[in-house]
Amino acid sequence: MDMQTNFLDRLFDAGLLIETGVDGLYGRSGEFEDVIAAFERLIDRFGGQDGAEAMRFPPGMNRAYFETSGYMKSFPQLAGTVHSFCGNDHDHMSLLKCMEVGEDWTKEQEATDIVLTPAACYPLYPTVARRGALPMTGKLFDLQSYCFRHEPSKDPARQQLFRMREYVCMGTEQHVTDFRQSWMDRGVEMMKLLGLTVEIDVANDPFFGRAGKMMANNQRDQNLKFELLIPITSVAKPTACMSFNYHQDAFGTKWGLNLEDGAVAHTACVGFGLERIALALFHTHGLSTSDWQEDIRKILWG
Ligand code: 5GP
Ligand code: ZN
Repeated sequence: MDMQTNFLDRLFDAGLLIETGVDGLYGRSGEFEDVIAAFERLIDRFGGQDGAEAMRFPPGMNRAYFETSGYMKSFPQLAGTVHSFCGNDHDHMSLLKCMEVGEDWTKEQEATDIVLTPAACYPLYPTVARRGALPMTGKLFDLQSYCFRHEPSKDPARQQLFRMREYVCMGTEQHVTDFRQSWMDRGVEMMKLLGLTVEIDVANDPFFGRAGKMMANNQRDQNLKFELLIPITSVAKPTACMSFNYHQDAFGTKWGLNLEDGAVAHTACVGFGLERIALALFHTHGLSTSDWQEDIRKILWG
């Protein structure tokens, strides 16, 4: 059995993750959630004084905004759309018949106006654009959302529905690159406090197809994405538990985000993979939080 399946089974046995019959879709126990809640409070201790505006969006977003975002150009393989039954009595009868005989009942389902949110920051850009120009001093936002990515896997660190906490910064190039650097430093400090082994490396998103290869190379060459890696199911291939993304003025241009002087805003976002961080803690310190070292418990629960 490989390390990933082994760790997944141990998490099921300990009751920390709850099987649903679908790879990458799990319930979480109270103890698991308690670690996430405590870690989020630690994030607040580090970032709470920065003056971020908090917003919480549901895990589904406006399909029109999703289309404008260009997500289907870059990651069609990861997207999840919400479809619904929109037929009449007759259609309903044939749907039930299909289900009865074990045929595909989903092909008549129609797309709704909702798409599953792929990253916590996606609903933010059009929301901020509607407000008008951004102050020259920039703006900071604090987000958290369940996100969906269609990548079924036995690796407990690769889930299809997982939570991302994000800080998003909009402003001048200097402002948003300083923001990103400060969270790279804070991220390392936070993980070290928690006794986790960390490294930061340049990264790229899994852009789709042949054209995607070029986009990935470009992202790497320009240092647009960094990840904070922690060993979970492999020491040789540690898992990305945070990402630090500089979008230059790409989102500013796409969404019409301008500063008060008319310049296009630059943006950057910093994401915490909350399930991954909890898994890194359970992997490193053991599957029962009551057995964790006192200094680690103190940082999380005071
Ligand atoms: P990104 O947008 O950089 O791909 O993802 C942001 C963060 O979300 C990642 O650094 C990671 O911590 C988390 N994340 C990304 N993909 C997955 C996944 O498949 N499962 C889980 N649990 N977390 C993920
Ligand atoms: Zn983001």
